[in-house]
Amino acid sequence: MSTRITDQCGDNTPAARRRPAMTHKCPQLTFAVRFLALCAVMEVATLTLVPFSLSAQTPVTETFQRDPAQAIDESYTQLIRKYTTAPALNSPLTDYLPASSSIPTPAKVLGDVAGAPDVLPYAEETYRYFRLLADASPRVKVFTIGHTEEGREMIAVAVADESLLTQAQENGSRLAQLADPRSVQLDDAKAQALVSQSFPVYYVTGAIHSPETGAPTALMELAYRLAVDNAPYVQFIRTHMITLITPVVEVDGRDRMVDIYKWHKAHPGQNWPHLLYWGHYVAHDNNRDAMAMTLDLTKNVLNTYLEWHAQVLHDLHESVPFIYDNTEGDGPYNSWIDPILTHEWSMLASDNMARLQSFGMPGAFTHGDFDTWSPGYLIFLAGLHNGISRLYETFGNGGADTEKRVLSPDEYSRTWYRPNPPYPTVLWSQRDNNNYEQTALLSTLSYFAQNAKFFLNNFYWKSKRSVEKPASEGPAAYVLAQDDRSWNRQMQLLKVLALQHVEIQRLTQAATVALPPPSHKEEEEPKPGTPPPPTSQTFPVGSFIIRMDQPFSRVADALLDRQFWSPEDPQKAPYDDTGWSFGDLFNAKVSRVTDRTILSAPMSPVPDLSQIPSAEAGPGPFFVVNNSAQVSLASLVYALQGSAEVSICEENFESAGHKFAAGSLIIGRVEASKLKPWLQQFNLAAVSIARPPSVKVHPAAAPRIAIMHTWLYTQAEGWWRMTFDKLQVPFAYINTQTVSKEPNLRSKYDVIVFAPGAGASAQQIVDGLPMWGNPLPWQTSSLTPNLGKLDSTEDLRPGLGEAGVAHLKDFVQQGGLLITSEDTAEFAIEKGMAPGVFVAPRKTLKVVGSVLNSAVVDNQLPVAYGYDTAVPLYSSDGMAFTVSNLTVNRDILTAKEYKRPTGRGGPEDEDIPEGRPEEKALPLPAPKAWQATPLNEEQERNNPFLIPPELRPQVILRYAAMKDLLLSGLLENGDPLAEHPAVVKARFGKGDVLLFANNPLYRGETIGSYALVFNALINFGHLK
Ligand SMILES: [Zn+2]
Repeated sequence: MSTRITDQCGDNTPAARRRPAMTHKCPQLTFAVRFLALCAVMEVATLTLVPFSLSAQTPVTETFQRDPAQAIDESYTQLIRKYTTAPALNSPLTDYLPASSSIPTPAKVLGDVAGAPDVLPYAEETYRYFRLLADASPRVKVFTIGHTEEGREMIAVAVADESLLTQAQENGSRLAQLADPRSVQLDDAKAQALVSQSFPVYYVTGAIHSPETGAPTALMELAYRLAVDNAPYVQFIRTHMITLITPVVEVDGRDRMVDIYKWHKAHPGQNWPHLLYWGHYVAHDNNRDAMAMTLDLTKNVLNTYLEWHAQVLHDLHESVPFIYDNTEGDGPYNSWIDPILTHEWSMLASDNMARLQSFGMPGAFTHGDFDTWSPGYLIFLAGLHNGISRLYETFGNGGADTEKRVLSPDEYSRTWYRPNPPYPTVLWSQRDNNNYEQTALLSTLSYFAQNAKFFLNNFYWKSKRSVEKPASEGPAAYVLAQDDRSWNRQMQLLKVLALQHVEIQRLTQAATVALPPPSHKEEEEPKPGTPPPPTSQTFPVGSFIIRMDQPFSRVADALLDRQFWSPEDPQKAPYDDTGWSFGDLFNAKVSRVTDRTILSAPMSPVPDLSQIPSAEAGPGPFFVVNNSAQVSLASLVYALQGSAEVSICEENFESAGHKFAAGSLIIGRVEASKLKPWLQQFNLAAVSIARPPSVKVHPAAAPRIAIMHTWLYTQAEGWWRMTFDKLQVPFAYINTQTVSKEPNLRSKYDVIVFAPGAGASAQQIVDGLPMWGNPLPWQTSSLTPNLGKLDSTEDLRPGLGEAGVAHLKDFVQQGGLLITSEDTAEFAIEKGMAPGVFVAPRKTLKVVGSVLNSAVVDNQLPVAYGYDTAVPLYSSDGMAFTVSNLTVNRDILTAKEYKRPTGRGGPEDEDIPEGRPEEKALPLPAPKAWQATPLNEEQERNNPFLIPPELRPQVILRYAAMKDLLLSGLLENGDPLAEHPAVVKARFGKGDVLLFANNPLYRGETIGSYALVFNALINFGHLK
């Protein structure tokens, strides 16, 4: 297990996932500077040939001086100064507020100034202010951009001079042409003409991370300043660009956070509940959704960003004192972004933090240990769509209290990139936070406006270079070959690409492409007697083509390519996952085609994936849905529950000229017309057969499922909950406290899912939080109307308890199925519910969110039904199991470990004692790494720990051998993992415990391993 302890806001590294997450504040950041990495970054920035250099622009002359003719709002200004805890924590840009006789200040809604102590507005109050502002000023417009999972509104606010807002639509159509240079035939002169007429759009977003509370009020006041202030530099901003603002991205979480803050203010001197739920499903992982696009907030922000053809997406966070412009950060940088973007990061961050330095504000810096490798962060919606991604980490107190904060040496120490570091201790207020956020934004908006044409040109150039990708760095396209077995998972992958606004085509005729020559390594070691590798590949009609000559080729390339993080990389603490290759994670073969002739193959666009019809099933009376590890077989079983007869075959069979795998669904007593809409909805195909096959079958189960969560942490289980919801598999949502009070779980449920990410040891799961102090309620009340909806308790502190452990054990022993993964698998092992299963020692193994290959041990076992020989798995930190025929983890000597003693002969010879005939020893066992070591009769005799053969653990998947193990990401010293069990079913009493060393349902990205979980459900009672 990684022992990394330093990370920053939104961190969800495996280490973070596995440690208790009791605080609702972001963990702190250390700055391990890696000069080598940094030098490499600087070199890239220096060598980048940006088409239009800054020197060709008007010199930056803004002075940030106020308009002496404009009155200031004296009372508001006095309160700004009162709430700012030290003069250096403000700037000349925000230490006053200009007065207006007609336009309301934030005080109109807040009752005090932005950032005032004790004032934390709900999203709705924030919106009310923006709408008042829009009513009073022609320079402000408010738009609804969508809703959250819980139905709360999301908005965007446009601020600019009235003349710009009235031209927004026609400006937008010009920006759309720059965004898609095919519309101007890639003609730079035409683009130049468009640039000269256009103004840019800069999109700022706040409060995606709910405990980071300052942004909404800072953005309220920022919008007022942009609309009202007559300072020449502000006038320049609003007459040269549109500032677009979404003040609250995670609206569900904001409202819960405000509830908690109100509870805290009403209970002085008491501990208050941590923010257990942010969004409906996940917490800080809402900032890891920019790849799979599963959350409504991600879709709403991307659609807004693209509808406005914005050039920047700038997200506001809090964790690091006092402001860290982190996108420049540290290496490695994402390998699929345009180098122009890395240059833009550097320019914007350097100017921005230098401005804050010039105002004398301490603790403003741009380098640090955030790496920009993974494109899962919200800002990457811009970074991979030809825009500019930016992010501030500022300092916050997790609410509006003014607090003395004590920093750690790594936070306040002086270093080369932080010559004026934060103070070692500081009295910090939400107003201080709002000063920093606004000052930084105002100065960077000014810089951006001054260089608007330069950035618009870059926007065009990045878009053009994306279209030119096949002819420059390549590839030409990615191809998902027409394949019935992968169809269902291909559709999941294509839906993600469609959400990313990637254009998808389909071949209307077969196409043949040349394959690249084998790699140097393969050439070096030709295997004797093996045929030469193929030089071409043919894709059948109907294959899906993702052309790289389209404006959003980069996001497709970043998702579909593979990643390699070198163990030698100077960055030793990857900030997030190191591998994510979607072709692997979706278990859908994706071909990276470099031969550009693919682009002239006959193909037609696929405008709407939902309109692609599923294969015609035929009249019946029976239908077979072949099991090829689709995600949605369980969806179909639940949908047909009570209206059809569904059984599952236990062997492969052939019928009507088709081959069907064990685990296929046989559906009877349903009309084709009733079945077809379900097949279409779930991307499944059925074959009509005249009579049921003669092979052994069992009824498909639609078990009663409970998903159990702890009150410690709910994020990773939230991804599981989301998966079940999206697949329409119903479940009860229960918690460890209800289990501790429910002695007869088996009477209520067949399956209990204990998803990973409890964030705690087995003992902490049992104990919960320490019981000293006051109760911590999570309940709906007049004070906290947004809490307690998903689940509730009068006190978060009590855990599962020993009674709960006993109830879970009874549940399994009485025939229930318990599904566990990662840390909850460890919990099941430690609590004795998985006899013969152990966690493999990790030794010096290092895996950080990688994609690893596994091998199916037996696909006649129901959990592995439908899978081929290999399954790519997501591994957060390299967990694997060992299995034994004993309930205790004892070393039993194997042939591999045996070392011959001193004696006659060579190293491989046997020693033979002198003076007597040779007595042959029994051969030592030679198990594979995924097998239990067989015992001899001596070891078995009267051994109370010996597990009866029928109760021994079954290994379903094991990790691949070392040479095939790594697909994407970081793998170092992989021996403790190679060939070891990854998915195991343990027998306990009459029931089963299914243990995943991987996380099969993770961030909406692990589509390929979903069926392992859902196979277990529909085969409940028949898991063998
Ligand atoms: Zn954050």
